[in-house]
Amino acid sequence: MTDLRDFGKPYHGIHPAAPQAGYERLTWQEPDPRNDRFRVRDHTCECQRIVYELCQAGGLHFIRRLYRSDGVTEHESDRMRAPQAARLWLRILLGQAR
Ligand SMILES: [Zn+2]
Repeated sequence: MTDLRDFGKPYHGIHPAAPQAGYERLTWQEPDPRNDRFRVRDHTCECQRIVYELCQAGGLHFIRRLYRSDGVTEHESDRMRAPQAARLWLRILLGQAR
């Protein structure tokens, strides 16, 4: 059992699986500056260097990728409808898409 105090957080969120053989390489874009209002519906664990967020803006969904090194580099997926975004989210968590 890992001592969670080592992480400075009371618990962990989802840790995505490592990329699987033949995983789909997604096209990650610069954040849309019009995108000032969105809700984060789900996210992966903040202890990871790369955090993924399932986001909703109006009726459309997208996935954000936050890469932390010195600062935070943000990228995001295409906009898509909820069922398509849910499938993509699952594929990212399973290591089938990145
Ligand atoms: Zn974690």
